[in-house]
Amino acid sequence: MKAVIHNISIECIQGDIANQPNMDAVVNAANAQLRMGGGVAGAIHRTAGPGLEEESRRQAPIKPGQAVITGGHRLPNSYVIHCLGPVYGQDEPSDKLLADCYRNALRLAEEYQLKSVAFPAISTGVFGYPVEAAAKVALKSILDELTNLSSLGHIRFVLFRTEDLQIYNSVLKKLTE
Ligand code: ADP
Repeated sequence: MKAVIHNISIECIQGDIANQPNMDAVVNAANAQLRMGGGVAGAIHRTAGPGLEEESRRQAPIKPGQAVITGGHRLPNSYVIHCLGPVYGQDEPSDKLLADCYRNALRLAEEYQLKSVAFPAISTGVFGYPVEAAAKVALKSILDELTNLSSLGHIRFVLFRTEDLQIYNSVLKKLTE
């Protein structure tokens, strides 16, 4: 599903965040140390190569809700924006910290004058955030930020699982109709 609001297109697709050519930046569901890890961080670091960890660890550790930016190394993207999502039930208030991730990532995208950015479903893997609740926070915080964006024209959510894509699509539909 795709919605266009304030001239910015927001779409949800199923795929691999490490294989998103034609996007200026991809967002990493990072760990505090900005190291390789599993899930999204594993896929991104594997494709980007060791140069990404070398560059990113200089900005570590980061706190829940924070976002930092590095180059994309061997990824097909110029930049990686690393966000540390909250661990559900541990880092509180988890909804505010998750919203901070999306807001801070978009602010960095704006600062770097990026035209397109792809997000994974931050915190919904190992960090245990329920997918529908995470989708509402993610999409609401992005919709609230749209009027502050001037360079960005394309925001993409890349979901790994079919069920997650369906949930993101229905939340996007509800929030935009
Ligand atoms: P977190 O630690 O923030 O929970 P994870 O990487 O464990 O981050 O998972 C976040 C979400 O990303 C989960 O829904 C997971 O299914 C999904 N995911 C895992 N690998 C990929 C990938 N290569 N591309 C896109 N999404 C992925």
